[in-house]
Amino acid sequence: MQNLDVVIVGGGIVGLTTALAIRKQTSLTVGLVESQALNQLSDQPHIRVSAINGASQQLFSNLGVWQDIANTRLQPYQNMHVWDKDGYGHLDFTQQDFPQLIASTDNKDHNLGWIVENDVIRNALWHKAQKDNGIVFIEEKLSSIAMGSGEVFLMIAGQAPITAKLVIGADGANSWVRRQLDMAMTFRDYDHHALVATVKCSQGHQNTAWQVFLPTGPLAFLPLYKQEHCSIVWSLPPEEAQRLKALDAAEFNKEILAASDGKLGQVELVSERATFPLTMRLANEFVKQRVVLIGDAAHTIHPLAGQGVNLGLVDASALAQTLNELVAQGTDISDGKALGHFSRWRKADASEMIMAMESIKQGFALQQKLPKVIRGLGMSLLNQFSPAKKLLIKQALGFKGELPKLSQSQDGLL
Ligand SMILES: Cc1cc2nc3c(=O)[nH]c(=O)nc-3n(C[C@H](O)[C@H](O)[C@H](O)COP(=O)(O)OP(=O)(O)OC[C@H]3O[C@@H](n4cnc5c(N)ncnc54)[C@H](O)[C@@H]3O)c2cc1C
Repeated sequence: MQNLDVVIVGGGIVGLTTALAIRKQTSLTVGLVESQALNQLSDQPHIRVSAINGASQQLFSNLGVWQDIANTRLQPYQNMHVWDKDGYGHLDFTQQDFPQLIASTDNKDHNLGWIVENDVIRNALWHKAQKDNGIVFIEEKLSSIAMGSGEVFLMIAGQAPITAKLVIGADGANSWVRRQLDMAMTFRDYDHHALVATVKCSQGHQNTAWQVFLPTGPLAFLPLYKQEHCSIVWSLPPEEAQRLKALDAAEFNKEILAASDGKLGQVELVSERATFPLTMRLANEFVKQRVVLIGDAAHTIHPLAGQGVNLGLVDASALAQTLNELVAQGTDISDGKALGHFSRWRKADASEMIMAMESIKQGFALQQKLPKVIRGLGMSLLNQFSPAKKLLIKQALGFKGELPKLSQSQDGLL
């Protein structure tokens, strides 16, 4: 029987980061259960990418994986351009608008964010974790979880159980751990699917993240490491997403050119297209007995602001910090009071993010009912009103609210 301090179920970006963060801050032994092997990178960018904010970049940097990610491939961006398709309004963010805010981190190039393929991040984390002999990879499928009085038993068919003092469910939106523990969840269908693909734009991305609000939903062009390539995330009613997915490439190119107002020049599809149903999920409690939920296992949000994995990465560093404090006090790492605090802290942040996504969506729906001139005026006023813009940029960079130490700059300037 293998006895470990912590077992993490799920070796996605959040689970792997949690393993490294726990090892960075404590000497606890960590098991990582994951049966899905790494995807090899090809010459072409993968269609699943994430906008990584400043707090997440700081965390990867403090864990010693950022350089590996940067050495593989990523694209920083210094500008954001958001506009309303049927109105006159636009909103622009540039690094010049907020030099002090951005300069107060390890982000010496003053970037607003980075677009990175999910596989690039996962590969870098996985390789780093494999070099740590306090992390045990368990490439098996668990069959059940049983709660003992002082530990948790994790069953694998035909093998002796693994024991752990604490189990972390980082196994994604349809979390097996959450279902095993019968942990209740609130959820709501956004009635939208996200269509993702890679496109080539004749005018290049200009190190800018672009987002247009169309009557059917937002369409983002995220800059990739190849200067002419962008990853698109197009949020649409399900039947419209299926229609666009089924169009032949030439017709699809025409639709996306029209949707983008030609701002990036001619647009050409250069990858497969995939769609993902979008659902808001929020676990009622993130902790039950000796089990903690983090990342998409605990919450999923609309991708329009590109914050889902960033939120999960704060869960990872916050949980590592909580365990570090418990170890330092000589307290059981499943201590109910400390984990209760962790649960409230992270649920409050996730709820705030869910509400922010909701207000953007509803504000946008309401805007559609207003005359064009008033819509344009609203966006232009926001564009010129610096305190409101500063708040928005702080949120986008991830430097707001209570941040765990590992998500802050090492010189503590935040
Ligand atoms: C279209 C789209 C665009 C997005 N864009 C952004 C963005 O720009 N920025 C951003 O911050 N977020 C974005 N997100 C959200 C982001 O992708 C997710 O929040 C993030 O991937 C969640 O990571 P995770 O590690 O929690 O879960 P997952 O990535 O789902 O990983 C879960 C892992 O658990 C494993 N697993 C599952 N079940 C088991 C089991 N029973 N046993 C063992 N292992 C198991 C899986 O194999 C997987 O490796 C986007 C989401 C979508 C849908």
